[in-house]
Amino acid sequence: MIQLYIPLNFLGVLYREIKQSLTDLDKMFTLMEREREVADKPGAQPLTGQEHPAVRFEHVTFGYEPARVILHDLSFEVPAGKTVAVVGPSGSGKSTLARLLFRFYDVQQGRITIAGQDIREVTQASVRRSIGIVPQDTVLFNDTIEYNIAYGRAGASRAEVEAAARAARIHDFIESTPRGYQTMVGERGLKLSGGEKQRVAIARTLLKDPPILIFDEATSALDSANERAIQAELRSAAQNKTALVIAHRLSTVVDAHEILVMDGGRIIERGTHLQLLARGGRYAAMWALQQKES
Ligand code: ADP
Ligand code: MG
Repeated sequence: MIQLYIPLNFLGVLYREIKQSLTDLDKMFTLMEREREVADKPGAQPLTGQEHPAVRFEHVTFGYEPARVILHDLSFEVPAGKTVAVVGPSGSGKSTLARLLFRFYDVQQGRITIAGQDIREVTQASVRRSIGIVPQDTVLFNDTIEYNIAYGRAGASRAEVEAAARAARIHDFIESTPRGYQTMVGERGLKLSGGEKQRVAIARTLLKDPPILIFDEATSALDSANERAIQAELRSAAQNKTALVIAHRLSTVVDAHEILVMDGGRIIERGTHLQLLARGGRYAAMWALQQKES
């Protein structure tokens, strides 16, 4: 009963909040906190050792509703400083992995650790500080474009904001807007396209420069020229970072330390690009299909 009530109540709160202003993933996260879906344990301490952290999913089972399990007993590790890629069809549970690592929700069984610490045992603020996420769909704050990028790191200088915007290939667009970096964006300001919003989110994450990165189909809304340029930036941003990269284009994950192929909330194949090709299974078939298309 409790579990049914909380999400409905949360939706009501969320709806009002969206109407009042705007939201984004962090804001939604704050709302979740308010609804105690995920809450800091009494006396929770900040994460330690996150300068060079490994991320581990250990026997993680999760469903948004108890009756419908979405992830079934998933285990994998993103070693410190490595990139692990996740591929698979739509609805297979890839974004759910990202949301769980960001502690949008708590797992039902198993655990997720960062630098060896269960993320339910440490403060959410410290978990979120250590992670930069480029979500599939970005919702911007009703504020200036500068604010929306600088939000990645409080106290960033204008020069740093611009450097991040250049790297995310959004600087020229910003300069072309009526008030440049002071242009208001979001629901009540200048409406940006999906690709423009995605580039703002990328700039924000590049500026934040956190030890852990989550890219959830981070360039899916971009045209192919922009995508290629930004993929290079993302690859260099992920150098020596602990990165979980959810990819729609397999060519972006060939260098990953490990590739997880998901289907129906399970890891059905795993290995390096070459191992998976040699296996001649689902990944090899997806690869052949994408090669033919491009
Ligand atoms: P992918 O990113 O691989 O496309 P998702 O992780 O977004 O897959 O979704 C996995 C499954 O979880 C889907 O069946 C989807 O309908 C379900 N799902 C996603 N978000 C929610 C939610 N907020 N509430 C209930 N079910 C959800
Ligand atoms: Mg997804």
